[in-house]
Amino acid sequence: MTTSPARRPVPRPTKLSEPFWRACAEGRLLHQRCSDCGAAVFKPQAFCPRCLSNSIEWKESSGRGVVNTFSVVWRPQTPAFQVPYVVAVIELEEGYQMMSNIVNCDVDAVHCDMPVSVVFEPVDADEDVVLPFFEPRR
Ligand SMILES: [Zn+2]
Repeated sequence: MTTSPARRPVPRPTKLSEPFWRACAEGRLLHQRCSDCGAAVFKPQAFCPRCLSNSIEWKESSGRGVVNTFSVVWRPQTPAFQVPYVVAVIELEEGYQMMSNIVNCDVDAVHCDMPVSVVFEPVDADEDVVLPFFEPRR
């Protein structure tokens, strides 16, 4: 009996999140903004969590932000992840946060308030899924 190698879990887009994932595949980072109160909204929502308006528009993000907080992972959830890696909460310029990985950087060099920029990488060659990661801003 053979076992197939572990595969990284991939997001399964919903009707609500599909525009976000499609933009990632095109190398663009999207977030939502409330047309009524101006709040930046992430993750994708059907209504504004601040004022409950359903006037939500997709906007393109600069992809620039800073590391708000992070953790270095040494014991992955599956063998598909190569350790060590950094899971971080990124504070984007547009005023929203998202969780991602810090890549193209030694794990010991990551620190809070580190300026980062988005970089897009496909999960697997045979998967049509592109994820947004962040790397140190140069
Ligand atoms: Zn609102």
